[in-house]
Parts: sequence; C-alpha cells; structure tokens
Amino acid sequence: MKKIITRFRLIACCVFYLCACSLGNNTDKTGGNLPVTVVPGEYPDTEAIVSFSYDDGSDSWYNTGYPLFNEYGYKATFNVNAAWTLYRSDWVLEMHNNGFEFASHSYYHETGVTDENVENMKLLLDGMGISPTGFVGPGAAATPAWGHDEVNIVKQYHRYYSQGYSHTNVPEGLSLPFDKYLLGRWGLSNSITAARITRALEDSAANNTWIIFSGHTIGGIWIEDDPVNGGGSDQSPALIEFVFSEIERLGIAVKTVEEVVDMYHPRGAVIDCSSNEHQEPDLTYFEEGDPQSMDPAVWNEYWHTTTWSGPRFVGNPAVYCHTSNDSLPLMRFTLSIPNGTYRVRAELIPYDTGRTYRVFYSFDSSNPSQLSVDISEKTDADLGTVTVTDGELNLYTQNADVVSGAEGFVGWAYVKLFHF
Ligand SMILES: [Zn+2]
Repeated sequence: MKKIITRFRLIACCVFYLCACSLGNNTDKTGGNLPVTVVPGEYPDTEAIVSFSYDDGSDSWYNTGYPLFNEYGYKATFNVNAAWTLYRSDWVLEMHNNGFEFASHSYYHETGVTDENVENMKLLLDGMGISPTGFVGPGAAATPAWGHDEVNIVKQYHRYYSQGYSHTNVPEGLSLPFDKYLLGRWGLSNSITAARITRALEDSAANNTWIIFSGHTIGGIWIEDDPVNGGGSDQSPALIEFVFSEIERLGIAVKTVEEVVDMYHPRGAVIDCSSNEHQEPDLTYFEEGDPQSMDPAVWNEYWHTTTWSGPRFVGNPAVYCHTSNDSLPLMRFTLSIPNGTYRVRAELIPYDTGRTYRVFYSFDSSNPSQLSVDISEKTDADLGTVTVTDGELNLYTQNADVVSGAEGFVGWAYVKLFHF
C-alpha cells in the first residue's frame, strides 16, 4: 500500500450486513480433484457476541462497574486517556490483570488523532505492561475522530479502530466480516428503554451479530427505574444488570473487543492485501473521489470513502479486479508463517450489490484459477486448507467471473489463516 494523494475526510457511518449466510461454496474450475481439503467447523463459528466499551476514564469503572462485571463473570473494554490512567494506575493494572481490556483513547483527548497523541498513549500503556490492541477515536467536536488520515496513523500502533460514540448507524449489530478499522458501537445509556435494548439483543441472537455497547460513566438513574428523574448518558447498575439478564436469557457470549478481533483476525496470521510487504506486484492505493478512478484494465488498490448501500470497507483499502478482465498480471498475497496446515479464509468485497461473482484463486502459481469461491455480498469466505512447507504462504489470484448480474469489480481485503 502506497499513498500518493492525501485526502482528509470524515466518514459518519459504516456498512454492515445482517445476513448470516456469508459462506461461499468452493468449486474446482477444472472439474478435477481439489488439492485443498475443506474441513468445516474448525474456524470459530459466527456467534452472537456483546462487548462493553467505555471511554475516557472514570472512578465509577472500578468502584461500581468492576465488582458488577466480576459478579457475572464478564469482562469489559476500557478506552483510556493518559490523565486518568496515570492517576489510577493501580486500578488499571488490577483490572487488566483480571482480564479487562485497556485500549487507547489517545493521550490527550482534546487534541484528537495525531501521530504524537496516538504514539504517546501506546508508549504509556506499553510501559505499564499493557499492550493495547485497540484504539477508540476521541470524540472532540472540532477534530474529526475518524478519517483515512487518522486510520493511517492508528494502524501503525493498533490492530483495530472504533469510532467515537455517535452511532446511530449501528441499529443492531455488526456482521462478519467486520471492518476492523471502523468498528461501530451502539450507545447504551440511561435514556434507552428496556424494549429497545431487548430488540437489539434479540436481533443479535437471531442473526449472530456483534454488538459493541459504548458508554462513559457508570451511575445515574435509568428511565425504566424513574421516568421522571432518570435518563442521561451514564449507565446505571440497574441498566447494566438488565442487559446482563437479557444476555443470559438469550445465550449471547460476552467478550472484550480485543478478544473478538483476535478470534477473527488471528495475530500474525493475517494478510492485509493492500500492504506492500504482503502483495506482489506492489500497488499504489487511491481513494474514492480522487481524480483516478477504478480501471478494469489493471489491479486497483482502492479505498472507499462512501458507505451508502454498498458492501464496502471504508476502514482499509482492498485490491480489486474487474470480472471482464481475464488477462491481469498474476497477483500474489504472501505471508511468512511457520510450516503447518492452515484453514484459510478471505474477506472479499464486491463493489456493487445484487450480483454474484466467482473469484478464482490458488495456492499453486502454475494454476492460479484452480479454485474458486462464489460471493454475492461482503463475505468472510472459506477458501479451504493449505499446507505450508517452506515457511511462506502464497495465495495467487488473477481473475473473477460473473455468475449472475452485470460485470463489475470484486476486491480482496484480508486473507486469514487459522490453526486446526
Ligand atoms: Zn472520549
């Protein structure tokens, strides 16, 4: 991934799909025997998950939230700035040692997402023995908390990026594949009715979506307890206990955000298809709205900025080919990894909706269209298994075809390897 044009944008919403039917079907283009054995069930199954994510730093986390979460055996994610972290370092370490996640919310909340502000908070937490996986953009009104320039800063230090806390765009939950550099959160506060919470959790259980509840301070009065005096942006213990009881009733898993990201993007085993060290030939990315536009004649490393109704990732570029072009150069995605047999999945993105594409790929450069997977939406696709014998996984792709609908672009975002 190389960038030639810098463009500053604020994206206010993200794309997700509630359909659970995200697995494609593997077929062999030549009709011969598959050298890759598909073994279902080894990959972590999609499941309904809830995470609790809190911003800034509050004594109420330790005094009220921590004992409450411990009572139920649940963990939360705390996104912190420097001041409270330094002030309450003993509490931070105690909660971290008990499995609670600490992520960065930038060093100085006020000055937004700058390299210095992100790096310094990472160094502070690293120095405490906490290696923060995640980053949550501070929501200061004057400084956009999320944009492609900000993502480029954050991804140097962190493996995921959540937005601030204005998330009307996340009506229920996130579906696989998640846009890990734009994880939308669901604002949970004392102003929300029990019926609204139940509706979201029942949807999560029915469709195996992931809800990241966001909050700040634990306290106040929930409107269900006191419609006259209740409300506000806190989360009262009664509200949290109601959510816990619904989670238990519906059999939903509770995990930290870090745990979910690690589950679906295993550490050291993910190819970011747009990164130069993992792609050959090296591509230069361009953003939606740049003078350059997608070209069917070449590989396109393209970064969406628009999220209207399409199956787009806006958190990271992806590598696109056009289904009408069968003579592109061979594209190799590569990763150094210990020898062994791995289950392979890829996050694939059709540019347009309402079409089904057959994406060809192989682990054998001499026959790059040996295998294929059919997709009709943004998909976390099962690509079968591969045995690595020389310390390097190579996945080759050269073209894709239309199964139904019109010709168009289809992109590779991530290739992910899983142990058996
Ligand atoms: Zn904040």
